[in-house]
Amino acid sequence: MNWSLPVIAFLLLACAILAWRYFTLRRGIRALTNQIKRGDEPDESSRGLGELASAVNAQLLSRNSQLASSNAERSRLSAILDQLTDGVLIADADGRVQFANPAAEKLFGSPLAGRSVVEAVRHHQLADAWRRCRETGGLQTESVEVSASRQFLQLIVVPDRDTRGGTLLLVQDLTRVRKLETVRRDFISNLSHELRTPLASLKALTETLQDGALADLEAGPRFLSRIHTEVDALTQMAQELLDLSKIESGQIELVLRKVDPLAMLKSAADRMRLQAERAGVELTVETATSPNVRADAARLEQVLVNLIHNAVKFTRRGGTVTLSASADGESVIFAVRDSGAGIPSDDLPRIFERFYRVDKSRAGSGTGLGLSIAKHIVEAHGGRIWAQSREGEGSAFYFSIPVTPN
Ligand code: ADP
Repeated sequence: MNWSLPVIAFLLLACAILAWRYFTLRRGIRALTNQIKRGDEPDESSRGLGELASAVNAQLLSRNSQLASSNAERSRLSAILDQLTDGVLIADADGRVQFANPAAEKLFGSPLAGRSVVEAVRHHQLADAWRRCRETGGLQTESVEVSASRQFLQLIVVPDRDTRGGTLLLVQDLTRVRKLETVRRDFISNLSHELRTPLASLKALTETLQDGALADLEAGPRFLSRIHTEVDALTQMAQELLDLSKIESGQIELVLRKVDPLAMLKSAADRMRLQAERAGVELTVETATSPNVRADAARLEQVLVNLIHNAVKFTRRGGTVTLSASADGESVIFAVRDSGAGIPSDDLPRIFERFYRVDKSRAGSGTGLGLSIAKHIVEAHGGRIWAQSREGEGSAFYFSIPVTPN
């Protein structure tokens, strides 16, 4: 039995080694498990697990980087949805809104999440487009005018490929675009109308001259002088349109300087005095002083001249036109008041529109552009223009210009 002792010793040693391996492995696995649970990288305590630890480590690293990039993606997407001017709604298979961006809540009111699509959009045509999309599984577009809010909305509904029965709704507010289109259409039709009248009269006058009136000593000069007047009117219109388009497109740069309102009123009145005298209208300037304003003197005078020109034009012989300027908080308010024909209340809100004339027969040679130009100039100064009037009782035009900062 002399071989049994080394065998026993060997077995004991083997058992001891296995037991030690078993305990270190158990400790390593426990450490690794805790590290994975915490989301930490495997460290010294789990080194014994060699390849397993490094495989887990690699997995963790790649998962962390995927997580970071998907988080970055999500916050980018959420920033885009927050800033998007179009409304975005996501509805589930039951037709409940799961998500609505701020633009959608601005259009339809908040909160929208949790409501049904029909409740959220509150318009039967929009709701019908959403139903059609669910029935057909295809993209649907619908445009509606919401009469209560005077908004023009366009809805695009697409099926949500990731959620069965779900839909994605995109809502665009086209109110401004539509308004601009209408303004442009009106402008072109007004312009062609305004051109047609003087052109037709020029044609008639020249034809009459050709037909023999040129030799007529009395009628010849009279027709020529009418041609002259029509050409002047066309030239004035072309100049005013050019001014207007330059101001609107920001091509005219204002040269802002310190301007004394009273000096401005006096200078504009001097320019218009002869015209007022001829019309038998008394033109006066109230001499109260007011703080200096920050303005482009030439442009500001143009506004005053336009207003005084109208005031004189629409005031009968013996009437008055009074100019004044007074401080009002951070602005000076200029006023041009007349005792003339006045403006009917229905027309008053529209007189600053291009080509708008209250009564074409009484407007004489006007183009309907003067007030529109005045409005643009005042607004380019950061001010506001408005009018008060009663038909038959005269009119008062006001505009504000900011005072010079100290
Ligand atoms: P116009 O060149 O025809 O005078 P404006 O744009 O200056 O064009 O004025 C638009 C219209 O507003 C005028 O045609 C006129 O009907 C009305 N209006 C402007 N100012 C006065 C005023 N002081 N009194 C009465 N009506 C006025």
